[in-house]
Amino acid sequence: MHELSIASNIIDIVSQSINNKENIKVDKICVSIGKLSGIVKESLLFCWEIAAKNSKLNGSKLIVKEQALVVYCESCKKKTLICGNVKLRCGRCGEPVSKIISGKELIIDKIIVNDETKDSRYKKEHAGKK
Ligand SMILES: [Zn+2]
Repeated sequence: MHELSIASNIIDIVSQSINNKENIKVDKICVSIGKLSGIVKESLLFCWEIAAKNSKLNGSKLIVKEQALVVYCESCKKKTLICGNVKLRCGRCGEPVSKIISGKELIIDKIIVNDETKDSRYKKEHAGKK
C-alpha cells in the first residue's frame, strides 16, 4: 500500500532526526500533505498505526494537515489558491495552468519530542501524480 511506505518513510526520517537517542520520546509528528500528493489522509493515519507499532515511534501521534493547492497562471502572471474541488485552472481567469506551486508534496512540519519542538522541514515531491 502506498501510504504504508510513506508512513515507514516518515518513521525513518523522524528516527534519523532524533539521532535514535534512547531518552527522546516523540509525542507528535505534524505533516502536511498536498491535495495532489496522491496521499489519502485517512489511509495514512491508518497505516501510521501499523507502521509505528513496530518502531521506536510507538505511541506517537501523527497529525496530518491538508495543504492547499497553489497554481501559477501564465496569462495573469499570478499565483492563486485552489479551494474545493481540485481543478488545474487559474483561480482568477479560469485558464488551465501548467505550473503547480504547491499541493504535490508531503512535508514534515514539526516533530514534538518530550514537549519540545524540533523543527525539521523535510519536503518530498510526489512527482508525476495527478
Ligand atoms: Zn489566470
